[in-house]
Amino acid sequence: AAAPQKFEFQAEIKQLLDIVIHSLYTEKEIFIRELTSNASDALEKLRHLQLTEKNILDDNLPLEINITTDDTAKTITIQDFGIGMTSAELVENLGTIAHSGSKAFLKALGESGQKNANLIGQFGVGFYSAFMVAKTVTVRSRSWRADEPGHVWTSDGSGSYTLSPSDGERRGTKIVIQLKDDATDFAADSRVKDILERYSAFVTFPINLNGKRINTVQALWLRNKNEIKDEEYTEFYKFQAHAYDDPRLRLHFSADAPLSINALLFVPKENTERYGLARLEPAVSLYCRKVLIDARPKDLLPEWLRFLKGVVDSEDLPLNISRETMQDKALLDKIGKVITKRFLKFLEDEAKSRPESYDEFYRQFGIFIKEGAALDFTHKEQLTKLLRYESSLTDKGKATSLADYVSRMKEGQAEIYYLVGASREAIESGPYLEGFKSRNLEVLFCYEPVDEYVMNNVREYDGKKLTAADHADVKLPDAPKPPADATLSEADTKTLVEWLAKTLAAHGVAEVKASDRLVDSPALALNADKFMTPHMRRMMKAMNK
Ligand code: ADP
Ligand code: MG
Repeated sequence: AAAPQKFEFQAEIKQLLDIVIHSLYTEKEIFIRELTSNASDALEKLRHLQLTEKNILDDNLPLEINITTDDTAKTITIQDFGIGMTSAELVENLGTIAHSGSKAFLKALGESGQKNANLIGQFGVGFYSAFMVAKTVTVRSRSWRADEPGHVWTSDGSGSYTLSPSDGERRGTKIVIQLKDDATDFAADSRVKDILERYSAFVTFPINLNGKRINTVQALWLRNKNEIKDEEYTEFYKFQAHAYDDPRLRLHFSADAPLSINALLFVPKENTERYGLARLEPAVSLYCRKVLIDARPKDLLPEWLRFLKGVVDSEDLPLNISRETMQDKALLDKIGKVITKRFLKFLEDEAKSRPESYDEFYRQFGIFIKEGAALDFTHKEQLTKLLRYESSLTDKGKATSLADYVSRMKEGQAEIYYLVGASREAIESGPYLEGFKSRNLEVLFCYEPVDEYVMNNVREYDGKKLTAADHADVKLPDAPKPPADATLSEADTKTLVEWLAKTLAAHGVAEVKASDRLVDSPALALNADKFMTPHMRRMMKAMNK
């Protein structure tokens, strides 16, 4: 064979390599993801070619990725039977003509002031991440074009590389990394297995590590949902969410605009936060064409959706998304909005078409809907529609939506009334309900401590104010007058009110009023505070202790 030819890396690539080699110390493991995703891309391209080209070299080779480690030689090898590269392509893709990305990468590194390895693949320079761990990188490649010979490309990353023809190469690319002394852990089977399972579990093509298949679970989210069985979904959920239960709800959808998105989302059977277990962490993983970008992206979805599990895959994402760049942050926000909107619509449909299933969901996860309704201004309207409460008109255990409440409102009724109490019994046996009951006004029953906060934040629905029925300002329309012999005279009433006011003043009662609000009870205490309800006051008191 001809003698190796020496080539200088282009200036920007030199600069880039200098940083990769000398200043990137964290997340070195991502080089495995980058090289695996390149291998997967090369196989994908070959699969496309097979549809149109007749003359493909080694057309019978399996479309797979083989990774081998050698603990003695301290090497890791990544091989694919993809499209391969001609010598011109090796020169162009791996070093002479800089991708526009390398410039952008250098700029981003400079701007973020942070030597972040995880930035690297984002700019189409993922291949160079190999130099974080390599003494030398050797690339043997042979193009699918039958008349192109194989070549071997070698570099230690220090400014130049060599290229020479190589006989006996099969189609595809084989990258051998001679590991640096501080990176020999990547020659260990168990370490590499762990990394592959994390980042590349759903890559379409078989990945074999030292002869053993790693990725056996399919990327269900990219398949047609009409062809997927329930059991497959359940199996996927258990694998992906590390779950032991069956999913309660699932939503599988794809969108093309404004972004290309495939998503498969699950709601677990139980809400573990409800049982006092740790606060849930975001668990919808972000993928780009089946390669994991972030298993637990923090800012993808709103906080209240932290009970969701599953996968979001977008082709529009760079492999190494970075929250430091505005552009990526905007992209993540956009994806998050699409997912949230779609999921809310799904719940709305579920509530309509399968109210019993929705009610069960709400019993477990309603607390998150409430949290969202109170705090997520962007989705408040949709979330408010999803709230459910028992009321003075529902049976025990049956809840109503605000929409249904409004449809039952009396003529002239302008507000939605609610009462907070420990239970239905507590509210029904208290004095506050009487005036509303006697006028046939429906009152929502709120049993959870957070409800008060929710009602205060949601404030209104469909233009109707949410009003605490035990507030002094509530004006009720006239009730039917009781018979004359059952009431006090005006003068007697006045005397009684004055005496009560004087007697109770010492106990903190601000004002005593005669009212027709009560039917059976002799008296009730109303809350005159515009800002604090009795329950809030109790909470404050508890906190001050
Ligand atoms: P990106 O994958 O974003 O294009 P990389 O730096 O990872 O950037 O790779 C640069 C280019 O090198 C790829 O676009 C591809 O053309 C080529 N390449 C890298 N690895 C392979 C491979 N295993 N087989 C064929 N071509 C490859
Ligand atoms: Mg790449």
